[in-house]
Amino acid sequence: MELSKLPQVGRVLEAPELSELEARLGKKALGAIAREIVANARAQMQKGAPAPTFSEVVERVAVRGRERLRTQVTRVINATGVLLHTNLGRAPLPEASLDRIRDAAGRYSTLELDAELGTRTRRALAVEASLAELTGAPDALLVNNNAAGVFFVLACLASGRDVIVSRGELVEIGGGFRIPEVLARSGARLVEVGTTNRTTVEDYARAIDERTACLLRVHPSNFKITGFSHRPTLSSLGRLAKDRGIPLIKDLGGGLIGDLGEHVKGEEPTVGACLRAGANLVCFSLDKLFGGPQGGAIVGDKALVDRLRDDPLARALRIDKLVILALEPVLEAYLTGKPERIPIHALLRASVTELEGRAEAWRAGLGAVGEGARVVRTQGAIGGGTLAEEPVASAGLAISVPDPDALMRALGRAETPVIARIAEGEVVFDARTVFPDEDPILLATLRRILEGEFEP
Ligand SMILES: *Cc1c(COP(=O)(O)O)cnc(C)c1O
Repeated sequence: MELSKLPQVGRVLEAPELSELEARLGKKALGAIAREIVANARAQMQKGAPAPTFSEVVERVAVRGRERLRTQVTRVINATGVLLHTNLGRAPLPEASLDRIRDAAGRYSTLELDAELGTRTRRALAVEASLAELTGAPDALLVNNNAAGVFFVLACLASGRDVIVSRGELVEIGGGFRIPEVLARSGARLVEVGTTNRTTVEDYARAIDERTACLLRVHPSNFKITGFSHRPTLSSLGRLAKDRGIPLIKDLGGGLIGDLGEHVKGEEPTVGACLRAGANLVCFSLDKLFGGPQGGAIVGDKALVDRLRDDPLARALRIDKLVILALEPVLEAYLTGKPERIPIHALLRASVTELEGRAEAWRAGLGAVGEGARVVRTQGAIGGGTLAEEPVASAGLAISVPDPDALMRALGRAETPVIARIAEGEVVFDARTVFPDEDPILLATLRRILEGEFEP
């Protein structure tokens, strides 16, 4: 065993092949990787393995370094057909939002200042006013995300008291957000009514007593109860809540404002409809169907929103300035009747014929390597827990390859990774979620891979 043949860490780090990685990861992190690789090699040699060559060690360090970089958040092309993919960052932002962030976030801003009067203003004043205007709510409050919003409402309005929820709505939204657990953590006591499949207004009515803080209605989001089932309408709950003088809280999830267009079949209540039905507060995500940055909106009765604003938790959950900047153009798009400026709505509006045309162009652009490819009708999805099961009519390209998993991995390793899906043994690229200006990158990537560069 000739341990002296092992390359020295210092020399490995000087290899020109590693200079770019060093520039991105820093000398310290790359040095730690190199020491670990050399230590591993030494351990292997002690078990009788031959000494790795200098370039083998450099290559191993480079591979590990690139793995580290891969865990950073980078842009991808979403060819899954799922519009709101929590793993892919949910709603993409409008160009105007990026401009606002570029313009104002790199410098100082009037985040909490009236520049003309020189007085302090409330953070998010303008976006909260716009949101109230847009939804028809008397007032609005913004927090970090909808999970925070629901928790906040319960902690502020119901801690130490009872919250009445139907057994059919004690759901888990995903990512560990379970209604009974959130409720328990807020300090409120859960009072379950009805059954899993059937709950009536009378069930709620019977459960109300002097300890009741509110009724909570939860959008089941990602699952459905069908068959012998009943859920009271929101307006019948609204009437009950009003009669008894207790607030009705609605966790809506998605935050739909207008309509979803002709390509989505499912029914989804809008924020405005929930308020008109009598919900005193409606909580929803800003980065689901609303189409904006991550955030949570709480809209409704002024007195309740004021109580939230005065609560010490408000400061702990307050919204970030980047979110406010990104949100302004989204609200503007809705308020000026131009929702198609919001990417999620632009993507939803494309006709299936248009998508088929693009998929056909992808196929043609692949040339000889695209021989096994065919244009297919597909079913995309809204995703993100909202209308998750409802199909979105779409089209794309299906490619037959001997090893679909290997193709998926190669796509994932590309400089701009392409995320597709496997259906019935074929790799399917859904055009619904690929922005038209991404077509050239998608095509070049796919072509390069199919032309033989892809190693399993
Ligand atoms: C998505 C969702 C949540 C959680 O919202 P986030 O913005 O992800 O925190 C809560 N409730 C419902 C009904 C949802 O659909």
